[in-house]
Amino acid sequence: MKRVAGTEGAHLIDEDGARILDAISSWWVITHGHRHPAIMEAIRRASETYDQIIFAEYTHAPAEELAAGLIGITPAGLKHVFYSDSGSTAVEVALKMALGFFHNIGAPRSRVCVLEHGYHGDTIGTMSAGERGVFNAAYEPLLFAVDRLPFPEPGREQQTLDTFAASCASGRVAALLIEPLVLGAGGMKIYPPAVLTELKRIAERHGSLFIADEVMTGWGRTGTRFACEQAGLTPDILCTSKGLTGGALPLAATLCTADIFDAHFSADRRRTFFHSSSYTANPIACAAALANLGIWATEAVGTRIEALAAKQRSRLRRFEGDPRFCNIRQAGTIAALDLAVPVGGYLSEVGPRLRTFFRERKLLIRPLGNVIYLMPPYCVTEADLDRAYDAIDEAASAFAAGRL
Ligand SMILES: *Cc1c(COP(=O)(O)O)cnc(C)c1O
Repeated sequence: MKRVAGTEGAHLIDEDGARILDAISSWWVITHGHRHPAIMEAIRRASETYDQIIFAEYTHAPAEELAAGLIGITPAGLKHVFYSDSGSTAVEVALKMALGFFHNIGAPRSRVCVLEHGYHGDTIGTMSAGERGVFNAAYEPLLFAVDRLPFPEPGREQQTLDTFAASCASGRVAALLIEPLVLGAGGMKIYPPAVLTELKRIAERHGSLFIADEVMTGWGRTGTRFACEQAGLTPDILCTSKGLTGGALPLAATLCTADIFDAHFSADRRRTFFHSSSYTANPIACAAALANLGIWATEAVGTRIEALAAKQRSRLRRFEGDPRFCNIRQAGTIAALDLAVPVGGYLSEVGPRLRTFFRERKLLIRPLGNVIYLMPPYCVTEADLDRAYDAIDEAASAFAAGRL
C-alpha cells in the first residue's frame, strides 16, 4: 500500500509526490476539498482553548453554537441535537430514540422497517438494519430481525409503499430507517423524492417514526444540503456525520423533534435517554463543524455543487446508449454507472481489477463491484473530472477487449 504524505484540495499526495485525484472524497467525507483553510484554522484555534470536555453537567460554546446552527439549517421541526462520533453511532442513537419514545409514552413498539440494499453502518444494530450478505454473515446470530421493503425500482414504487403500509398495519412499527434518495454502499441506487414523501405520509398515518439516515446524502451530495429537502419533508429523526465537519474530523449528530425529546425529558430518571460516549461533542470537532457551517453561509457552495452536477451530467450523457454500460444515473453531485458484466454484484471479479486500473492512473476510484461511481469534493476541476471519465472510458474498452 502507498503511503499518503499529505492532502490538498481534491487530491491526495503520495510519498513520491504524485497527486492522486480523490474521486470518492475519501469515502464520502470530504465535501469542499481536503484541508479547507477555514476548517483547518478553526481546528488550530479551538485546540488553543479546548481539548475534550465532559459533556454532562457542563457544556461549551462550540457545541451550543453548532446545535443552534444545525437546527437552523435542517428541515423545520427538528429541535434537538444529540452528538456522537460516527455515522454508525448516529444511527444507533436514532434507533434508541425511536424505541425510547414508544417505551416512554407507554405504547411500546420495537419493529424497524428498512429498504432492501440499505447500509447504515457496521455496529451490531446498524448491521441488523442493513442489507445482509457476505459482510455480516459471520455475525448473523447476533443481528435482530427487521421488516425489509423492496427497493423502489422504476415502475415498481407502489410495491414498496404497499409493503410498508402492510408492515405498519401491525401497529408494531416504531420507525422506518431509510437513506433518502440514494442508497450509497448498497450500490448507489437512486430513487425519486416522491417515494420518500409517500413513505413519510404512510408512517404518519400509522404513528410510526421516520428516520432519515443522511450520513452520506447530507451536505450537498444530492444537490440540496439535505436530501429530505427534495421530498419537502421533515423526518422525525435525522442522522448526519460524514460531511458534518467538511470531512476533517470525526463527529456525528442525531437531530430529533420536540415530541421525541419531550418523551425523554423528565424528573423520572427511568425516562432518561441513556446513551453516552466518552468523546461526545468534542469541542475541536464541533469547531470544525461550525467552520463548515460558515463556509456554507459565506461561500458559493451551491454554485459549485450545481457546476459539478452539470459537469457530471454532460460526461455521463456521452455514455448514454453505450452497450459497455448500463443503469447510468445521477443524483446531484453523485454519478454512477454499471459496467456491463456477465455477473454483477459487489463481489464481482471486476471490482478489484478496476481499482488497480484507476490507481495506476493516479485516480482514487473504488467501484462497488461493477458499479463505478464518482463522488468528488466540490472543489474538483473540470480537467480532473475529464481525466476520471476518460479513464472510465478506457477501462470499459480494456474490459470489453478482455484486457482487464
Ligand atoms: C457511511 C455510512 C454510515 C456509517 O458511517 P460511519 O461513520 O462509517 O460509521 C451510515 N449510514 C450511511 C448511509 C453511510 O453511508
